[in-house]
Amino acid sequence: MTRRVAVVGAGPAGLTAAYRLVERGFHVDVLEREAEAGGRTHTEHHGDGHWVDTGAGWLASFYPSTLALLDEIGQRHRLSPMPLRGGGDLLLDGRLVPTPNSVGRILGSSLLGPLDKGRFFVAMARLFATQRGDLAIDLDHDGETALDALAGFGTAARERIVRPNFEGPFFARLEQMSGALVRSWLRVLSVGTFFHVAGGMDAPWRALADLLGARTGVTVTGVETTRDGGAAVHIDGSADRYDAVVLAIPAPVAAELLTPDDRPAILSEIGYVPHVRLYAARRGAGPARSGIHVFPNDLVATVELGAGRFGAWGQVPDEWAWALACAPAASSGPLLDAPAEEVQDRIWAEARRIDPRVFPLDRADVVQLIRWPHAVPDVRPGYHARLDAFHQRPPVFFAGDWLVQPCVEGAVRSGERAAELVSGTLR
Ligand SMILES: Cc1cc2nc3c(=O)[nH]c(=O)nc-3n(C[C@H](O)[C@H](O)[C@H](O)COP(=O)(O)OP(=O)(O)OC[C@H]3O[C@@H](n4cnc5c(N)ncnc54)[C@H](O)[C@@H]3O)c2cc1C
Repeated sequence: MTRRVAVVGAGPAGLTAAYRLVERGFHVDVLEREAEAGGRTHTEHHGDGHWVDTGAGWLASFYPSTLALLDEIGQRHRLSPMPLRGGGDLLLDGRLVPTPNSVGRILGSSLLGPLDKGRFFVAMARLFATQRGDLAIDLDHDGETALDALAGFGTAARERIVRPNFEGPFFARLEQMSGALVRSWLRVLSVGTFFHVAGGMDAPWRALADLLGARTGVTVTGVETTRDGGAAVHIDGSADRYDAVVLAIPAPVAAELLTPDDRPAILSEIGYVPHVRLYAARRGAGPARSGIHVFPNDLVATVELGAGRFGAWGQVPDEWAWALACAPAASSGPLLDAPAEEVQDRIWAEARRIDPRVFPLDRADVVQLIRWPHAVPDVRPGYHARLDAFHQRPPVFFAGDWLVQPCVEGAVRSGERAAELVSGTLR
């Protein structure tokens, strides 16, 4: 008899799990709350040739599982190399200086003295010798903070090189990240190629959801184990029985769906960082692409702007200009529920103060306020040791970026693992 599996969530984790389960001969129902699949790789379309990636903005050469999956489903052609976020300038105590984010820029940077530079390159060589390059988490460094893990790099390199390159993409302060997380990313960020996705970051995932016949606009309100060893999935007041369920959603969201008896303790220990950003675009010429990282930051941590077809977080048509302002995690939390207009006005006023080339919001043709309550897992010291001690049990399994790494590749690998666990159990 064909075994039935429900996968809750059509982000990269759930869709990968579902695809690998279908390959193994299971009957799989993918249930997605939003009208479209993709999760935090969501793209908003604003007309011909104009889209904004509101969540993930790039894939990378060090994402082997994601790239292999995109190959298999015929979506790899969408990828083209792009410059990584982190280029641009640092606004340090009112002074604008180029971000030292490549060997050439570091060597020429006025922010580090010759000794700082030497120390940085020696520390990087050591990191390369001791840290694997496949985003693997080295549990030996899990208990320490990022600051401990970076002790050998020296204060100047830590503050001027690592901090701007990490606090942008991870939305969290270096102080709160685990040493293991920072080590794994430092290793790959310095050598990776980054990819833009034609048609939007969610395009490959929407194609995969179509292939799998995913059901969108379906909110799962509860999941509970049944006496016969299966699980009941509740939707709109009715329940469906499955042999197994994969919850491919952020841990705090999964916790809400389970009864206290079925809820593993780890779910309440995993936190996520919120993130708020504002995108606007207008018809007309604008400056070439540039970005500013603000230190110390308060309401706005990065301001980026540009014009022309490529280089945006998504794509704008020719003869359009765009700008994006991102709030840091500490101010994103309170902005999640504040009235939209107030949030927009505050963020944009600050962005224009930081970079006067940002156009006024009332002259924008497109304004997109983006609010993620669960942007990325909050990977603090001790995080992976807790995960390591957690063993998934039937009939409810978990997938999601919180189980591996806070990125698309982490989500894809978690989906592959969940599929293996389910098939190992139900065989
Ligand atoms: C602003 C931002 C920028 C990012 N930048 C990058 C980047 O450049 N590169 C990168 O690799 N990663 C990036 N990430 C992280 C990346 O997007 C995530 O790690 C990845 O999308 C996680 O995939 P997932 O499948 O685990 O979860 P999600 O993508 O969140 O998917 C979970 C799905 O479950 C659905 N769901 C939730 N509850 C229910 C329910 N009750 N019933 C049914 N469905 C439900 C949700 O609607 C969602 O579609 C970024 C994230 C954000 C927010």
